[in-house]
Amino acid sequence: MATMNEKDYYAILGVSKDASAKEIQKAFQQKARKLHPDVNKAPDAEERFKEVSEAYAVLSDEQKRARYDAMRSGNPFAGAAPSASPYGGGYGGGYAGGDPFGGGFPFGGYAQRRRSGSAFNPETGADVVVDIDLTAEQARSGARRAVKYRRYEPCDRCHGTGSVSSESAHTCPSCGGTGAVEVDLSFLFGAGTFQTVCPECGGSGRVISDPCPDCGGSGRTPVVTEAVVEFPAGTHDGDTVRVKSMGHAGTNGAAGGDLVGRARVAAERLEGPASTGFYLVGFMLPFLVFSAASGTMSMFAFLCLIPFAIGLSMIVRSDLRGRGATWWKRGLAQVVSGCVNGLLLAFVSVSFASCSRGMFMGPFSY
Ligand SMILES: [Zn+2]
Ligand SMILES: [Zn+2]
Repeated sequence: MATMNEKDYYAILGVSKDASAKEIQKAFQQKARKLHPDVNKAPDAEERFKEVSEAYAVLSDEQKRARYDAMRSGNPFAGAAPSASPYGGGYGGGYAGGDPFGGGFPFGGYAQRRRSGSAFNPETGADVVVDIDLTAEQARSGARRAVKYRRYEPCDRCHGTGSVSSESAHTCPSCGGTGAVEVDLSFLFGAGTFQTVCPECGGSGRVISDPCPDCGGSGRTPVVTEAVVEFPAGTHDGDTVRVKSMGHAGTNGAAGGDLVGRARVAAERLEGPASTGFYLVGFMLPFLVFSAASGTMSMFAFLCLIPFAIGLSMIVRSDLRGRGATWWKRGLAQVVSGCVNGLLLAFVSVSFASCSRGMFMGPFSY
């Protein structure tokens, strides 16, 4: 029944659903020892340590664990009506995955992690970026294009607030409104307590006592929608146009993101021979410079000139004027990328050549 956004605290600790308090503590000790930021320098160690601590904070507390279990065994809407929770607390929905659609709705840009369906956690909605193909002619003279895309829209039923009756956000009972809970680590490191984000309110310090059944308390619902993006005359590949507030709606009434239409003008993209040509020129550049710097490598310099000339001719033969005013930026990027790789190889060859005296042919000594 787990949705995508719902954390499986049992899996995080690596214990079974009916693990005893002692087993949970033992599992946490083992994981925390391995992941403690003082010990483990892996980039994700801190994040995993927090996750493990959060799981422990919930599962080690009998009441919290019971609520968590109740939410996981029920349907995602169980928490919507307080009476549906066997634990009666007004915030019974506490640990349900925030978004009942979360599992199967592949939103790009849905970056907000919702820990709780009933957390009152206003977060600004993300932008939605849509790539729109334009012909060279459309880019030149401007174009209006309708796009169909997926977004979170403010929930109709609760008008985006997340609760059925407005003004029902209360101080979170788990953290007392601070948004953080303390995990006692003194038995492990003797260093007292560790703070982690409150799993009940997701850090906001507030929960909703009557989460809206349509949106699960988040204040927004996923829809497929349409909007018109208007590109002005003289648009180039990569240019963007914003449509205000047509991105994802924020949660619990927070401001929404924009729809961002990004022009893709195939004719302006530097592809094929032109791209290869720029790369080749950049790649050979360091060799030519090195050869010129040391007069003895004339034969090598001549060999370097051949691919350099091939690169140049590839550029010249592709019609760059038809590729918009910014082709040289992309060309330059290719030259630089080739140059970096060429420089690396040049250094290797030069040091190789200086090691074995008399071999001035460098990498082309066939
Ligand atoms: Zn709603
Ligand atoms: Zn809280």
